[in-house]
Amino acid sequence: KPAAYDDNNIFAKILRGEIPSHRIYEDQHTVAFMDVMPQAPGHVLVVPKAPSRNILDADPATLAHAITVVQKVAKALEEVFDADGVFIAQFNEPAAGQTVFHLHFHVIPRHEGVALKP
Ligand code: 5GP
Repeated sequence: KPAAYDDNNIFAKILRGEIPSHRIYEDQHTVAFMDVMPQAPGHVLVVPKAPSRNILDADPATLAHAITVVQKVAKALEEVFDADGVFIAQFNEPAAGQTVFHLHFHVIPRHEGVALKP
């Protein structure tokens, strides 16, 4: 069984304004900000405000809203970065590559022939 939600994770601190972030979108339920170590220019994280560790313990209504924000951000990035495509990813638990334990979606504009940074 996964660990419980920890209120001191880095995105909880960002949501509370205790750590700065470059926010590109915010509504009542969701925030989107720039990833501090972008895998490509325009790498955005979409983060629901409700406390869940990842998709496995998320409330379905929270998820439903978050995915509409992911779509909005993807469309905006496609246009602003003149992208050829948009990569969307989401990791759950360390075995799947999760390192920050507050639910988030990666949204990354992609260009033909340009690899992601590791
Ligand atoms: P994941 O948990 O999905 O593997 O990735 C967490 C992501 O959060 C990484 O892409 C990492 O660069 C990003 N990240 C970690 N710490 C911070 C931070 O303090 N600020 C921002 N904006 N992004 C962060």
